[in-house]
Amino acid sequence: MSERRASILLVEDDERTRRAVMANLEGHGYGVRGAADGEEALVLWELRRPDLILLDLGLPGIDGLGVLRRVRRDATTPVIILSARGEERDKVEALDAGADDYLAKPFGMAELHARLRAALRRTLASEVDPSGVAVIGPLRLDPERRIVTVGDAELRLTPREYELLKVLLANAGRVVTRGRLLRAVWGTAYAEEGHYLHVYVGQIRRKIAALDPDGALSDLLVAEPGVGYRVRSADSEDS
Ligand code: CA
Repeated sequence: MSERRASILLVEDDERTRRAVMANLEGHGYGVRGAADGEEALVLWELRRPDLILLDLGLPGIDGLGVLRRVRRDATTPVIILSARGEERDKVEALDAGADDYLAKPFGMAELHARLRAALRRTLASEVDPSGVAVIGPLRLDPERRIVTVGDAELRLTPREYELLKVLLANAGRVVTRGRLLRAVWGTAYAEEGHYLHVYVGQIRRKIAALDPDGALSDLLVAEPGVGYRVRSADSEDS
């Protein structure tokens, strides 16, 4: 699957937005099908099995979350949520239900293209690199040896700091919700303890900065207010 020939299902009930985004994506070589509601989306999903889904949350009939849950029953196809203002809670729920990323409306086409490329590249990367070694700039995490390095120096992390960084790096370029991070690193009993994350991310940032005098990694860990954290993508064009 080359990125440029990737097939996309765009689910959006606003006709002007749908037409404009479809025309732009087709102009960039993507194959695009449009759906105006959840029922049509699920029919096209069954028929076409697209490489990626752009999914509006607020839809007549079956809403975006319903579409996402149906898709996630049998596929890991990347799903990027298109969320309107006022859908903060829905957005987090969608990310926790397995959406890969979100774009807040109104979004620019350059941002949409960057997210698309990142999501499609993750699909390709997970197919060709089972070792799980993550590399972003001078930072490298080797999960088999449980070692993180910045340049030639070892980044000494506590076990929780290491797990937190590992989860974020495994999802490089995509936002990971606070709830998911807390459950992954601390366990379900801590799902509401969002302030832990703030403290631990701060510690990781300081330790990286001490080994990174040029600041090449200064924007590595990005806070997404109200949602969670994101490690910038390995590809600098997305940062
Ligand atoms: Ca809508």
